[in-house]
Amino acid sequence: MQIKSINYRFREKLNSTLGGEAHNFCYQCGACVGDCPAAMYSEDFNPREILLQALLGNEDALTGEDSPIWNCTNCYTCYERCPQAVRPVEVIIALKNICFEKVTSVPEVRELVNSVKATGRTVKITSLSDRRRKELGLKEVKIVPIEELEKLFEP
Ligand code: SF4
Ligand code: SF4
Repeated sequence: MQIKSINYRFREKLNSTLGGEAHNFCYQCGACVGDCPAAMYSEDFNPREILLQALLGNEDALTGEDSPIWNCTNCYTCYERCPQAVRPVEVIIALKNICFEKVTSVPEVRELVNSVKATGRTVKITSLSDRRRKELGLKEVKIVPIEELEKLFEP
């Protein structure tokens, strides 16, 4: 890959986003890849490569619609493995937050966020799920106080 120039403007943006600043300490050892479950199942996913793109400030690759970051399962294994305390998962979460600002998050994730804002849940509670809960002897699901949630979502 030929590198034209490093996009420091994007790196500054990542530095000022919670969890993103530690990307500066990555020395590309690859320890985060070995036990990464997403890397085991997807050839397109590699946390070391994501960190390399972050060091290059490759905004398009990391926050475009085809960004690989959405394949991360947030399992935090890489957080434990990284010898540089880069906390790769938190850099990836920071990149996801930047995507939300740019409205380039994947539609499925945006749908989940909209559902949480509207109902307080990521999945709809249907009459079937209510019935199944009753059969299993579980309590009724409580209604989420949306007005409390709205306060949390206020900027
Ligand atoms: S994030 Fe940490 S473990 Fe992964 S390549 Fe960089 S220094 Fe190595
Ligand atoms: S948090 Fe993401 S990048 Fe880190 S090990 Fe888990 S799936 Fe891989």
